[in-house]
Amino acid sequence: MKCPFCEPEEELLLYENSLIRILIDSYPANRGHLLVVPRRHVESWWELSGEEKAALLKGAEIAMKNLGEALNPDGFNIGINLGRAAGQTVPHIHLHVIPRWEGDSKNPRGGVRKAVLDLEDENLNLKERWERNRMNGDEIKRLKSLFSNI
Ligand SMILES: [Zn+2]
Repeated sequence: MKCPFCEPEEELLLYENSLIRILIDSYPANRGHLLVVPRRHVESWWELSGEEKAALLKGAEIAMKNLGEALNPDGFNIGINLGRAAGQTVPHIHLHVIPRWEGDSKNPRGGVRKAVLDLEDENLNLKERWERNRMNGDEIKRLKSLFSNI
């Protein structure tokens, strides 16, 4: 199967350098949900070089900075699902950067601690939900222009 992060669709690619890519998530948990991935196809944290680990964190920082300018969120959740038991479905490690706004959830308390709740991820199953979360053309254009200035 073709890896979506090794061969990303052009319209999802916001930024790349020699070590990482920053992509728009196709099934966004919230508006502006981005992924930071190493360019190399590696599945686990332990396969990453020190340079790649640093580049992933730097990528998260760039993503938060540009999302801040483009969409003006009030906060972020960032996280990595490591291993199938932790919910990893694509075997190419990826760091989620999810913008958050006051009031986007009735109960934001706990944030990524909710990773262990015994509930289906609505964003992966409810088509209307991830369609609603998708950025519009103007928002994507603005983000692309911010990333092109790095
Ligand atoms: Zn890959």
